[in-house]
Amino acid sequence: MRAYPTPLARLMEELEKMPGVGPKSAQRLALYLLEASRDDCQALANAIVEMKDRIHPCTLCFNFTDDELCPICADPQRDGSALCVVSDVRDLLAMERAGGFRGRYHVLGGLISPMDGVGPDTLRVRELLERVRTGALKEVVLATNPTVEGDATALYLAGLLKPLGVRVTRIALGLPVGGDLDYADDVTIARAMSGRTEL
Ligand SMILES: [Zn+2]
Repeated sequence: MRAYPTPLARLMEELEKMPGVGPKSAQRLALYLLEASRDDCQALANAIVEMKDRIHPCTLCFNFTDDELCPICADPQRDGSALCVVSDVRDLLAMERAGGFRGRYHVLGGLISPMDGVGPDTLRVRELLERVRTGALKEVVLATNPTVEGDATALYLAGLLKPLGVRVTRIALGLPVGGDLDYADDVTIARAMSGRTEL
């Protein structure tokens, strides 16, 4: 880092903390910003801080929003009888990219993983059960990743949801075992959704 003036080195250090950004990419981005106008740099800095200040979880589904409800929960065109349970917002976005699901979502905030000390209590399970009890839901689709943790979480939730009289299904077909929804292509996710099975 001796080759860089301190402010440049500091920016590169911050950029390198980001996912997918190694030393080379950090240098490229930093040099790009160095040559960009001060206005453009200020706009970027403002956008980052404004995002931090304004984005929070949707009060209903825990998707990101700058309002009380996220655009999906607030959309009257969405099917209020189907709920898709996902681990995190990245998976929700992957589902939306793939299209095909017209219901609403519930973001758990992780998957049950005893090895990592994540039990049901640390996830938004209570909120999910509350939604199923009070809502007009007919079907809950468990769209957790096809991994050990994703399967364990889906089985656990199915055990709690089925006694509530709701149809519980699990996406499966087409997704590679051990895979990650966020990395699956749209067609695979769409097929997994249409081929979901009863739990
Ligand atoms: Zn929402």
